[in-house]
Amino acid sequence: MAGQSKIPQATAKRLPLYYRFLNNLHLKGKTRVSSKELSDAVKVDSATIRRDFSYFGALGKKGYGYNVEYLLGFFRKTLDQDETTSVALIGVGNLGTAFLHYNFTKNNNTKIEMAFDADPNKIGDEIGGVPVYHIDELEERLNDVQAAILTVPGSVAQSITERLVDSGITGILNFTPARISVPDQIRVHHIDLSVELQSLVYFMKHYPLED
Ligand code: ATP
Repeated sequence: MAGQSKIPQATAKRLPLYYRFLNNLHLKGKTRVSSKELSDAVKVDSATIRRDFSYFGALGKKGYGYNVEYLLGFFRKTLDQDETTSVALIGVGNLGTAFLHYNFTKNNNTKIEMAFDADPNKIGDEIGGVPVYHIDELEERLNDVQAAILTVPGSVAQSITERLVDSGITGILNFTPARISVPDQIRVHHIDLSVELQSLVYFMKHYPLED
């Protein structure tokens, strides 16, 4: 998010959430929204929402709320919604296949353009409209791709990461259990679904929420 250095990271992380909700309101023809309504929908307390919004000059009016169109315009610019980021997916197993079918169509600023796998049986077809190529073709195919989703086995995650970085990828969403090492300028977000589930169950057992 170039030029948005004034916005704190925690606020920036909530922008896609706000964006999606406001976009839905806009599609339904709503022109304004109260911070209470927003707060209930995105599960962020209204004080935080007011503070977040003050960073982008949206000061809600008492009894009126926020102007949906104004906020959407701001979010589009900030999130580069008009500029699509090309994404490649590596590893067309169970999880990878599900992502190709999903293809993040609700996020109109990202698109999985191509996928790679080492298994010859998975090559050549399109899954969810995305072509699947052999991993040997990675370097020649990744021309304008900026980000990658890793859904390969953990054992090959590091070597594939190095090839991705050498090909100019600057962001990796790592779904493998492996912790991957990258140069400083490469951003990695790690999502280990089994750890997330385990952690949820742990918290359910040990820290039950009050009614
Ligand atoms: P998932 O973990 O997504 O449920 P799975 O159990 O179907 O996957 P895994 O063994 O985890 O299969 O492998 C995920 C995918 O990664 C498979 O389609 C496999 O062929 C592919 N894969 C394995 N090694 C490589 C590699 N070196 N390069 C590219 N793809 C690979």
